Amino acid sequence: MDTKQQRLLRKLPGVDHLLELWDKKQPIEDIPRTVLVRSIRTTIDRLRMRILVDDELLDETMFSDNQLLQLATQAVNKSMKFNLKRVINATGVVVHTNLGRSLLPESVARHVAEISSYYSNLEFDLERGTRGSRYSCVEEILCEISGAEAALVVNNNAGAVFLSLETLAKGKEVIVSRGELVEIGGSFRLPEVMARSGAKLVEIGTTNRTHLSDYEGAIRDETALLLKVHTSNYSLVGFTAEVPLKDLVALGAKYNIPVMNDLGSGSFVDFSEYGLMKEPTVQETVAAGADLVTFSGDKMLGGPQAGIIVGRKDALEHIKKSPVTRALRIDKMTLAALEATLHLYRDESKAVLAIPTLNMLALSPRIIANRAKRLQNRLKKLGNEKLEAVITNASSKVGGGALPLAELPTKCVGIKIKGLSANRIERLMLDATPPIIGRIENDLFVMDVRTIQDEEIAIIALTFKKILAEA
Ligand SMILES: *Cc1c(COP(=O)(O)O)cnc(C)c1O
Repeated sequence: MDTKQQRLLRKLPGVDHLLELWDKKQPIEDIPRTVLVRSIRTTIDRLRMRILVDDELLDETMFSDNQLLQLATQAVNKSMKFNLKRVINATGVVVHTNLGRSLLPESVARHVAEISSYYSNLEFDLERGTRGSRYSCVEEILCEISGAEAALVVNNNAGAVFLSLETLAKGKEVIVSRGELVEIGGSFRLPEVMARSGAKLVEIGTTNRTHLSDYEGAIRDETALLLKVHTSNYSLVGFTAEVPLKDLVALGAKYNIPVMNDLGSGSFVDFSEYGLMKEPTVQETVAAGADLVTFSGDKMLGGPQAGIIVGRKDALEHIKKSPVTRALRIDKMTLAALEATLHLYRDESKAVLAIPTLNMLALSPRIIANRAKRLQNRLKKLGNEKLEAVITNASSKVGGGALPLAELPTKCVGIKIKGLSANRIERLMLDATPPIIGRIENDLFVMDVRTIQDEEIAIIALTFKKILAEA
């Protein structure tokens, strides 16, 4: 260690010194003592680290009382802010798992606020004046929309799949096509979920082709379930074959074995009517005769995080009684959000307008072009010659492991600022309030307008105005 480092280390202030300084000047009022002490410790630790890594920018002037107080104030400000905060999604990935997947419609969010800030009939039957079921508020409407006999909701779809397997197939065999043994977003791997549930996986067919005879050949006394899994985030193309659900249902009926279909990103809306690929809807899957259908609440459904199971009454009765159901039970805020979202589905044309996820997926090219133009105009109106905003064509993604091959034509606004690299702009956008998440392409900071909400255009313009003022 050289003498400069030793000298600086000796000068490093103690916690008490900074506390004293703070108490004298009080740069911010009403800070809890614990927050203050922690922030001061962090400040000093950071300075020590910078000395130890021999940060060339560091010298004694950093230890002046004013500098120290400023650093401590920054640390206090940061720790008084929420870690979980709103961001602007300019990635064009609609169901973005890292950014919270689905946005709740405003009417839904209002219902959640009311239910969570007052008492509710969560488990109380108002007609009979006695204890009721937590799930009854959504069961009926789920049956109404899906056409199923019974329904249950749990924490998420991973939970729904686990719970179904654990209840119906523990210690027994489940037949799955090799082409459907998927991994979804790192931590959900079908073979591992199945192993944990106690069900024994029986793989059949080959990676690219599986036939009905493969299923039939694997059926034994120990077979508890025929499972079909939506491949979600990957696609089998080329020389492929899979068994249609209705053939699997017929096979199940012949041997008296239930059939379960994990749809992953299940939807009540046929997106082929909005220019996307045809995917079986939840209703179609139920109608095709699946005994159990599982899907997420916050993927293409556009509601809160939840795992939804619909299907035959006897199978669901069985699942409802499992102690695991209690461990995976959803809270009242989620139930309120789910019920309010499901109500919107009673009228599909309204749902597509009101539910942001559906709305963003179904946006017309005209609306997208218009939004891009408006963002570009707002930026041009800042009247700063350093900034250049160009509109480019690109494609958005559905996200959430749904329709991986779908390319949704979209418009992006790409930004160049004289004197700032694209990487620097990206950094400044991440530090902004709210942070703006975009991407870098051809040395431009690029924002896909599909996932930018209308009222966010003004916020983005203001953010660039601030950056230009400081650049
Ligand atoms: C996404 C997905 C899951 C997991 O759903 P979560 O709601 O994220 O828990 C399970 N199965 C399939 C096929 C999926 O696509």
